[in-house]
Amino acid sequence: MNNRAGFLEKLESEVENCRRCSLYKTRTNIVFGAGPANAELMIVSEAPGFNEDQKGVPFVGAAGELLNKLLKMTGLKREESYICNILKCRPVTSNLENRPPRSEEIEACTPFLDQQIEIVKPKLIVTLGRYSASYILPKIGYSFRSMAGVHGKILRGHLFNNPVTVIPTYHPAAALYNPKYKDAIEEDFRVIGRELEKLFNTSRLRCGLSDRLWQVQEKKDMKLPRSIRSRQPIL
Ligand code: URA
Repeated sequence: MNNRAGFLEKLESEVENCRRCSLYKTRTNIVFGAGPANAELMIVSEAPGFNEDQKGVPFVGAAGELLNKLLKMTGLKREESYICNILKCRPVTSNLENRPPRSEEIEACTPFLDQQIEIVKPKLIVTLGRYSASYILPKIGYSFRSMAGVHGKILRGHLFNNPVTVIPTYHPAAALYNPKYKDAIEEDFRVIGRELEKLFNTSRLRCGLSDRLWQVQEKKDMKLPRSIRSRQPIL
C-alpha cells in the first residue's frame, strides 16, 4: 500500500467513527470518497443522497450516471478521478428526505475534505454546485458570489502549498431539474477536458455526445424516487 492510500484509509476509519454532527444518527453508511489516492483530478460535490447512503459510494444515482458521461466526454474514466463530497453523511429532513447541508455540518465535516485534498494532492479540482465552490474558492483567494458568475472559469491558486487549478461547474443534478443548465454544464466539461489536455499533455477530449446523453437523463428523471425529485438543488 502506498503512503497516500494508507493515509486515506486511516482517515476513512476516523470518519466511520465520526460524531462531530448529528448526521451520524441517520446515516446507513458514510460516503468517504472513491478513486485513486494519487488522482490528478479531484471532483468535490455536495453531499450523499439516498443511493449513496445505501451503498457508501459517491454518485451512484441518476446524477452519478450523468457525471460518468460528462467525465467520459473529457476523455477520463470515472475510475481515474477521485470523487468526494463536502459532507460525508447524507443530510436528511425529519421525513428522511434529502436536504441541503447546514453550516454547522459543513464546519464539522470539511476538515476531512481538507485532509483528503492534502493527501491526494490533485492538480485539478472540479467543484460541483454552490456548496463546494463556496468552500474551495476562498481557499485559493477567490470570493464566491454565484454559480452563474464562476462556472467554467479556470482559477489558479495553491492548496496546502501545492499548485492547483480549480474549475467550478453546476451540480449535474441541476440539469435533471432544469434543462437550462444543460448547455452550461456541457460547455464547462469541455473546458475541463481542454484543461486536462494541457495539464497532462494528453489528447483524449471527445466532442458532442450530448443529445443522446441528455435524453437518457430526461427519461431517468421520471423514475427518480419522490425523495430525490422533491428536492430542488440550490444553484
Ligand atoms: N450528489 C452529490 O452531491 N454527491 C453525491 O455523492 C451524489 C449526489
